[in-house]
Amino acid sequence: MTIVVDTIESVQQLIRDLKSKSHQIALVPTMGNLHAGHLALIKEAKSLADDVLVSIFVNPLQFGENEDLARYPRTFEDDKIALEKLGVTAIFAPSVKSIYPEGQQNHTKVSTPGISTQFCGKSRPGHFDGVTTIVCKLFNIAQPDIAIFGQKDYQQLLIIKKMVADLGMPVKIIEVPTIRDHDGLALSSRNQFLSADEKLKASFFYKTLQNCEKAILQNKKFTGILTSAKSTLKSHGFKVDYLAICNAVSLKKITEIEAKMVILAAVYLGNTRLIDNLKISLHVDRD
Ligand code: AMP
Repeated sequence: MTIVVDTIESVQQLIRDLKSKSHQIALVPTMGNLHAGHLALIKEAKSLADDVLVSIFVNPLQFGENEDLARYPRTFEDDKIALEKLGVTAIFAPSVKSIYPEGQQNHTKVSTPGISTQFCGKSRPGHFDGVTTIVCKLFNIAQPDIAIFGQKDYQQLLIIKKMVADLGMPVKIIEVPTIRDHDGLALSSRNQFLSADEKLKASFFYKTLQNCEKAILQNKKFTGILTSAKSTLKSHGFKVDYLAICNAVSLKKITEIEAKMVILAAVYLGNTRLIDNLKISLHVDRD
């Protein structure tokens, strides 16, 4: 049976009990509304640890003022059924009040300089400070041995790795490849905001990243690749927030082929913001 805990004290008691039995603990932080992408993370967690703790918390600190916090889908009962089926040990689903008792603005913040102000951080100022603050807090509360994150949020993944390295946190970060719909669209809780027509168009987003990959591998220099991809996206009804070819480790923009690259992108279809990325490794990846 999956246990549901909603206070910091109760989850800490649970963790103490599990650790007293020398259990390895995996944490999977989520905002709920679980789909096959989240479930892939949880399955990976199950294969690596004795106990899996899934947190479900729609973190107001990572949403900007005009963003979709209020309409973010909350489906706790369905999530619980899915997590029970997977044999998750516990769900930590705290209230906003228990995480930010004095309000978000008065809470201590964790911030990673540099990469957190580019790309999604530029379009969503403060977003990544909200993410690092809640993830750091969850790590402190749950003291997991490992924590699992999706490559779907590639910039977020690198920022969390940086936070863990910079602050010497004793947790191993495991990454899981993006799970996609049959048409290539990366699964996301925000896909349900798309109309039927937008949903059809949305698959073109990942196709564009795949076309960029082909062009990168054929041309070696990237002149014109991004301009042409952006104008194709626009002609298909997308508003491009950013599209960039970066070093996959530093996230610095690059203009020539390198061993490990990533194409990062965010677009709007109507009011819905979609992000995706495509990693390109010229050699077999052993990490
Ligand atoms: P969220 O609930 O959107 O905050 O996501 C929680 C975790 O699930 C993050 O580590 C995401 O990167 C990961 N995730 C979300 N969508 C996918 C997906 N389509 N494939 C793999 N992981 C995902």
